[in-house]
Amino acid sequence: MSQETIFTKIINREIPADIIYEDELTLAFKDINPQAPLHCLIIPKQPIATINDITEDKRELVGHLYVVAAKIAKQQGVADDGYRVVMNCNEHGGQSVYHIHLHMLAGKPLGWPPYTDKAKV
Ligand code: 5GP
Repeated sequence: MSQETIFTKIINREIPADIIYEDELTLAFKDINPQAPLHCLIIPKQPIATINDITEDKRELVGHLYVVAAKIAKQQGVADDGYRVVMNCNEHGGQSVYHIHLHMLAGKPLGWPPYTDKAKV
């Protein structure tokens, strides 16, 4: 399943975004609601709705998202201090845009676990 989301509009420059990296396969831009001093989203240009839709034929593309994350970390000067990349899936994972994206958070020590819900497992 893939459907057009706000991220397709960003890829097509139909709506603005603070783009910090682009190549043939991916785009990275600052999150509109940052949760850390550096919070960007790394997305494939090909729309894939959720992690559940990642099939074998997409393994290189998805792996490439991490290569891009490492590049951006160096570019933005956060590689040595460290950072977090995370991809949310569906409702319980906290996904709100159904076009897969790696969140990249950096620029301060990040808490763990990342959720705020106090409910016990
Ligand atoms: P999710 O909740 O799906 O894991 O993450 C979606 C992210 O996209 C959120 O962190 C949200 O702030 C960000 N976002 C939603 N709409 C826009 C937008 O129009 N522009 C940008 N730059 N980020 C967006």
